[in-house]
Amino acid sequence: MGEEKLSKMTEMLLAGGKMLGVHCATCMGPLFEYQGKIVCAVCGEKAKPAKAEVKAAPLKKVEETLHAKINSLAEQLAKETDQAKTLELLESIKSTLEALEKLKER
Ligand SMILES: [Zn+2]
Repeated sequence: MGEEKLSKMTEMLLAGGKMLGVHCATCMGPLFEYQGKIVCAVCGEKAKPAKAEVKAAPLKKVEETLHAKINSLAEQLAKETDQAKTLELLESIKSTLEALEKLKER
């Protein structure tokens, strides 16, 4: 399931979605802002943000940093024309997404 979720998130980023620091109440995946709507990469547009996320403050900070990192990588990726660099950026996005997933597995 992890792999599929990651590739859906990557697709969402490539489509111009911006990862938000809010999670889907259904699958706990990160929500994206896409074409003015809040969507879940896994559940689609019916996504509802999770209420009252309970998180330890230091980890919350790490998570926000990872979200910001992914968004900036996605922006670079959109502009990149070099094939090798594109692959490098995709790998970076993937490992950052994996790091985010691990944070939630605690
Ligand atoms: Zn979801």
